[in-house]
Amino acid sequence: MRCEICGKKVTGKPVRTKIDNSIMSTCNDCSKFGKIQREPPRPNRGPGSRGSVGRRRTFRSQEPTHEVIEDYQKVIREAREKKGWSREDLGENIYEKVSVINRLESGKMVPDLKLARKLEKSLNITLLEKTEEAQLDESNSLNRRKATIGDVVRIKKVK
Ligand SMILES: [Zn+2]
Repeated sequence: MRCEICGKKVTGKPVRTKIDNSIMSTCNDCSKFGKIQREPPRPNRGPGSRGSVGRRRTFRSQEPTHEVIEDYQKVIREAREKKGWSREDLGENIYEKVSVINRLESGKMVPDLKLARKLEKSLNITLLEKTEEAQLDESNSLNRRKATIGDVVRIKKVK
């Protein structure tokens, strides 16, 4: 399959792109020139979609190998209660609204990278994990000494 615009060989699925009212099969690059047809359905984030919310999320930005752990809401709540903090206290500590804490602890909101790091620092917990297998054998000791992501990356480079 070749891209109908640039003629490059398309690896994987071609993108159906609407350009000047005609639909063409193009490569990813050329799809930017037109309107992509048949967008993938948006994930349902509404209430009652617990199944999809509970799944692990992969950060797509600059650090694609970091994932928020699956039981983050439990880890956050337990660490907070251990400190004797209310949700308001935690919110103040990380400069977030209480409603954010509420959604985090009820599992309705997966923290993004920035928020997860704030929570890690504030509560001395580990919310982010590397997806690579090297992380597995180190995770226990790292958890215990409240490693930050910076530490994890440094340790990996030294090895
Ligand atoms: Zn192309």
